[in-house]
Amino acid sequence: MKHQAKKRFGQNFLTDQAIIQSLITAIHPNTEDLMVEIGPGLGAMTQPLIRHLDHLHVVEIDRDIIQWMQGFYPAGKITIHNSDVLKFDFGLIGPRIRVVGNLPYNISSPILFKLLENTAQIIDMHFMLQKEVVERMVAQPSTPEYGRLSVMLQYRLQMEYLITVPPEAFDPAPKVESAFVRCIPYETLPYPATDEALFAKVVTAAFGQRRKTLRNTLKGLLDDAGFTALGINPQLRAENLGVAEFVDISNFIAAAS
Ligand code: SAM
Repeated sequence: MKHQAKKRFGQNFLTDQAIIQSLITAIHPNTEDLMVEIGPGLGAMTQPLIRHLDHLHVVEIDRDIIQWMQGFYPAGKITIHNSDVLKFDFGLIGPRIRVVGNLPYNISSPILFKLLENTAQIIDMHFMLQKEVVERMVAQPSTPEYGRLSVMLQYRLQMEYLITVPPEAFDPAPKVESAFVRCIPYETLPYPATDEALFAKVVTAAFGQRRKTLRNTLKGLLDDAGFTALGINPQLRAENLGVAEFVDISNFIAAAS
């Protein structure tokens, strides 16, 4: 179909067939999977996916694309949800779903945080994102990329950086490199927080001013006696702590209050 890519919808369509094939291989679709694709666009991934699947759900916001899809795909093969993914109820799809997508980069973090609230329902997720975002997702402590996104995602997900994708693989080409990542929610959290809202608050406060020490950023939440009890040096910065230590801090505060 003739379609003028819309910047406001983050439309960069994948065109490199070899790369598309490597993404499909990494996703490894099985006929009976209950799969949902976010942002199918002109079908770069949708078309190969439905060759492997009995059925595919897609969530797309662009009405022009929706209209085209309705006439293009064989009836019964896909369910088209014309919705903003940030408002979409993933519960509609089923109890155990797989999620894939070449995401609109302008809203990739809100999409990840929304899905993070639905991980009990999700078997796995495969996403194309800005390479820099994927690097932050999988980053280890004491590296420049490590931050709030790394901790919040690593709390719930096992993640694997799969493939680096150059701008030329898309039309129009984005200004940045991209990367494909696999995220698998833990069935049992390795470090469960007793109060997850408090855990999120601690992580957000600690990284709010990432150059400052924990003594400063966690003032009002944890005093020096607390740091001593936890065996954590208050002179460290947020970037020095792993997920387990953030959980220890929030569990300590929860137990004390
Ligand atoms: N999957 C296609 C591909 O690989 O060529 C298109 C990927 S393009 C980067 C992102 C897609 O997400 C576009 O089809 C765009 O219209 C859609 N999109 C953008 N914002 C959206 C939103 N809030 N909810 C659902 N879809 C959205």
